[in-house]
Amino acid sequence: LAGQAGRFDVDALDSCDSTSSELLRRAALGAPPGTVVVADRQLAGRGRRGRSWSSSPADSLTFSLLWRLPAGRVPGGLSLAVGVALAQALDALGANGVRLKWPNDVLLAGDTGFAKLAGVLVELASDRRGTQACIGIGINLAQPAGDFPQAVAGLSQAMARVPERHDMLAALLRALLDVLDRFAQAGFAALKDDWLAWHAWQDRPVQLLGEGEVPLVGVCRGVDDDGALLLETAAGLSRILAGDLSLRAA
Ligand code: ATP
Repeated sequence: LAGQAGRFDVDALDSCDSTSSELLRRAALGAPPGTVVVADRQLAGRGRRGRSWSSSPADSLTFSLLWRLPAGRVPGGLSLAVGVALAQALDALGANGVRLKWPNDVLLAGDTGFAKLAGVLVELASDRRGTQACIGIGINLAQPAGDFPQAVAGLSQAMARVPERHDMLAALLRALLDVLDRFAQAGFAALKDDWLAWHAWQDRPVQLLGEGEVPLVGVCRGVDDDGALLLETAAGLSRILAGDLSLRAA
């Protein structure tokens, strides 16, 4: 994988708490880069900040991939880089209307705006050889049922025939291999133009929500070479590193 391991080692589970939790436990026991855990059912799928990620066996693809962060590469742009791989692969599979939202979401453009199609969760684990990134990905194959604070979407709304899950996993891993290799060689800067080509909210008014704070309102000017969000506010151009922040249309 990206010069780190010759191949992926995919373990398909019926169920687990979260594919990322399972993979991080395996990383602590010495699992090598390229290890992939995919599960039909997640009992406690996670998003950022302890938020939950809901998935159902028939209607989602959830998997996590272990990857060694090359020395000198800041992890900031990694979840954006993963988004590029997902957008490229889903588009190539025939999905229409895929877009990216900073820092970690894949959206689907529809008649009434954007809806969340997939999420990326990057977590880091250090060991004596350096830093491993656990890259968790959850994709809705069909629109999930339930109450969500934002609109949600499934791939079946974007394409006539959703591929079998193992075919989709293979396509996504191939795209990740290419993108992670480029990230390893040159960092997010090498992928920035690709990311911007999929960007949902370029030059649009947005608000940035923090925990309990007044939202920061401005115009979204994309991202920089490190993957930081560029937000033009009344006070000028702010550079915002991924943190506990959520972006919304204003
Ligand atoms: P935001 O999407 O607001 O920027 P976030 O990046 O913190 O927030 P994630 O960590 O990507 O969110 O995902 C967790 C959130 O996604 C949950 O709080 C829930 O609102 C939403 N969510 C959970 N499961 C799904 C799903 N299957 N499809 C779409 N959205 C989901």
